[in-house]
Amino acid sequence: MIRKLISNQKNVTIIKNGIKRYSSSSTSFIRPITTLTEEEQLLKESISNYANEKIRPLVKDMDEKSELDKGLLKELFDMNLMGIEISEEYGGAGMNFMSAIIAIEELAKIDPAISVIVDVQNTLVNNCITRYGNTEQKKKYLPMLARNTVGSFCLSEAGSGSDAFALSTRAQQQSDGTFILNGTKQWITNAKEAGIFIIMANVDPSQGYKGITAFIVESNNPGLKIGKKEDKLGIRASSTCEVILDNCIVKETDILGQLGKGYKIAIEGLNEGRIGIAAQMLGLAEGVYESTLPYLMERKQFGKPISEFQGMQFTYADLAIDIEAGKLLTYNAARLQEAGLPFVTEASMAKLHCSRVAEKASSACISMLGGVGFTKEFPAEKFFRDSKVGQIYEGTSNIQLQTIAKAIIKKFKQ
Ligand SMILES: Cc1cc2nc3c(=O)[nH]c(=O)nc-3n(C[C@H](O)[C@H](O)[C@H](O)COP(=O)(O)OP(=O)(O)OC[C@H]3O[C@@H](n4cnc5c(N)ncnc54)[C@H](O)[C@@H]3O)c2cc1C
Repeated sequence: MIRKLISNQKNVTIIKNGIKRYSSSSTSFIRPITTLTEEEQLLKESISNYANEKIRPLVKDMDEKSELDKGLLKELFDMNLMGIEISEEYGGAGMNFMSAIIAIEELAKIDPAISVIVDVQNTLVNNCITRYGNTEQKKKYLPMLARNTVGSFCLSEAGSGSDAFALSTRAQQQSDGTFILNGTKQWITNAKEAGIFIIMANVDPSQGYKGITAFIVESNNPGLKIGKKEDKLGIRASSTCEVILDNCIVKETDILGQLGKGYKIAIEGLNEGRIGIAAQMLGLAEGVYESTLPYLMERKQFGKPISEFQGMQFTYADLAIDIEAGKLLTYNAARLQEAGLPFVTEASMAKLHCSRVAEKASSACISMLGGVGFTKEFPAEKFFRDSKVGQIYEGTSNIQLQTIAKAIIKKFKQ
């Protein structure tokens, strides 16, 4: 029966001994998940060349100084990497979500800190404004974000991390319609460089509104100040700061989406953002792996390359499987998002898996390199430090497991 079904299929060429190849014109032709379009492939190559030539020489210094190179930020804008999905009408590259994922992955192979700057801008800030901004807001902010202005996504606070919506930042509406924002946001990526902040706040419940509201606030607002910059274990070139809102006055027209509907904006942003973090962690794992393997082929002990010892082979073969699985999970989640299909569980799986693989691969690479892996002469130790954050931001690993478990319960509970 199955054979009959297959042989009835149009556009199938029998090659030999019954092996079939589906012609590309067939509607049933299914491409491997890792297939990229010509445009995506070109983007991947050009980012890879750029990252190797221009970013790689700056990585060590930026990490040591915990500072982003200013010239590099300008280059990221010039290359349109800060507005990958923003439409050309607003000065962006007008590319698809997968292109953003590829950019994040390629940059992370060289520096996961630069990767997260591009990730937050594209998957969180730009996407929230593209999806929920009104025409005026899009006309004003998208060209800025595409050309020269960094954005930050401000949800977390000292008291609300995993329980992100327990936030205490308040927005009090005045009789003239303006809002006064008070509170302190914590752990805000890109805050030091940002010109645009998406701030999640609770409108004073006594004013009859329920739920969180998203506000767009510019850095020149006198009520917004950048507080303490965190001195971090990894991704040190990416700034992480407090954002203090001290009687910060915003207009009603600065509400992103609708009053009280910020939860949906934040959660949708984070769901997509998690695919970005998966790509960052995937790129990190690939980066540490690719920078380690050549050394194993050359380094000799007991008269032969250390890559020839079975104990070493089993380690790097295992890592190759983990990385490949991470790529499949990440690309599949990205393609589901692009196709408008449900992707939330897959995004959580991709983020969780890739962040585990990033830590495992960088740790194993240090071990395989031996003493040199423990020094700053090799990039493995930085990748190892950078890997840890993948299990923390945009929902910790436990929160991803919770999301996955919820989907399983929904499927199996009667
Ligand atoms: C470098 C960096 C950059 C960041 N950038 C941003 C940003 O740009 N914008 C922003 O809004 N936030 C940002 N964050 C914040 C980040 O999203 C939070 O740190 C994260 O959500 C975890 O919150 P927390 O640190 O308060 O940890 P907590 O929520 O206190 O968690 C501590 C531990 O408790 C566990 N836990 C908590 N609740 C549960 C539960 N229900 N079940 C099981 N275990 C649980 C967690 O898994 C974790 O292991 C950033 C954080 C870092 C470190």
